[in-house]
Formats: sequence, structure tokens, C-alpha cells
Amino acid sequence: MRQALVAANWKMNGTKAQVAELLAGFKAGINAQACQVAIFSPAVFLSDVQQALQGSAIAWGGQNVHSAESGAYTGETSLGMLKEFGCQYVLVGHSERRTLFGESDEVVAEKVAAALSAGVTPMLCIGETLEERESGVTAEVCRRQLKAVLDKVGVAGFNKLVVAYEPVWAIGTGKTASPEQAQEVHADLRAFLQDADAEMAKKIQILYGGSVKAASAAELFAMPDIDGGLVGGASLQIEEFVGICNAAAQ
Ligand code: PEP
Repeated sequence: MRQALVAANWKMNGTKAQVAELLAGFKAGINAQACQVAIFSPAVFLSDVQQALQGSAIAWGGQNVHSAESGAYTGETSLGMLKEFGCQYVLVGHSERRTLFGESDEVVAEKVAAALSAGVTPMLCIGETLEERESGVTAEVCRRQLKAVLDKVGVAGFNKLVVAYEPVWAIGTGKTASPEQAQEVHADLRAFLQDADAEMAKKIQILYGGSVKAASAAELFAMPDIDGGLVGGASLQIEEFVGICNAAAQ
């Protein structure tokens, strides 16, 4: 039986005061025993997040990482740094990283491999653009993105990571995939992984992301292959995010 996981991706938003307010609200409102919760904060707030969440059942992580241990990579953050701030997770291959910052499947695979070696759980984001969906290549694109990582880290790596399926056309647009549309892709991804290893495919958490709101969460999470959500905009509102976590806890 897979546990539900709900993750917040704050992206490049927030102030120290807002971070404190959001985390206090999450701690008060979320029953983190009933579903797993992870907060992906901007790197500069990780110290605040660590102080606020230490000792709670809510986990946290970075939104991006470099695959090298250290060196001349101005502006980047290493896994060692994330670990110093208590990060259990790291987001890898978010569509904004792929499209705005040119991260290829190979770069994403390198980052996943580095995170696994460092003992940090990668949340691997994949998903098709609107153009790709309309051309009928959704499954092909998502399988290609998964395969690039599978080829690099193997089944052993997939036993230790989380996948987030995020159709690019649904991210930040208010257009959620219907539960049936999302389920169709999740089932296909699980079938693809099953060909590599049936046990791993059964165990792996596959989250849905793309304009999830408290009002749409329950229907999405009721789908057999959707194991929770990766939430952007709605994770900046206490009531919305708590509502989404409650829906997952059901
Ligand atoms: C995201 O950033 O991963 C995301 C799903 O954003 P939103 O919920 O705002 O669509």
C-alpha cells in the first residue's frame, strides 16, 4: 500500500515573514501522520524552514541542486549544503528548470543520480507540453523522460525516488488535468516501470501536479495510480494547502 505524499513548491515566492506564517499554519492544520508532507522552499529560506519544522512530521527540501559536490558553479547549491539544512528531498527536473533553464534529460538524470548518492530523495518531475499532448505524444515524452533517469540510476535508484507527473499546460495555468486524463498517464508510467521491475512499479509514489486546488484534490487522489500531489500556487495559501493535505489523508 502506497502512502499519500503532498508536496509544496513555493517557487521563487515568499519573504521570511510569509515563510514563518505559512509554516505555522501548516503545522497547526496538517495531520502529517495521516499523509506525508514535504515543503520545497527557496534555498535562502531553508534555515528558517529547518528551524520551524525540525521535530515535526513535515519534511522539506530544495527546489534545485547541482550534481557536483562543490566548485566553481556560481549561484548553485550542492547536495551537501541542502543536507546541512536538513533537506530530505530535492526537486529535480521541474518543467520550469527544463524550459527556462535548459535542463536536458541527461542533466536531470545526473542530478537524480547525485541526489541518490548523497542520500537525498529526488522528486523527479516529468510531463508533456500542450503541443506534445495535442500531437498525441504524451506517453512517448513522459516515458522518454523517465527512461533517461532509469538508464542512469536503474531499478535500485527508482526504489528510492518519487515521480511527479506534471503536464506543463496545467502548471500555473488554472487548467487541471481531469482525474481521468491524469490517471491515464499515471497508469501508463506505472506500466512502463513495471517492465523494468514489478515490485518497484507497485511501490513507487507517482504524484500529480498542475493547478491542484483543495476543491479538485480529492477527485484526483481517488484515482488508483495517483499517490498525492505536487502543489505550486495553492501551497502559498494555508487553507488551500491544508485542504489538499486533508484530501490526501482520506
Ligand atoms: C508546480 O510548480 O509544480 C505546480 C504544479 O504549480 P501549480 O500548482 O501552480 O500549477
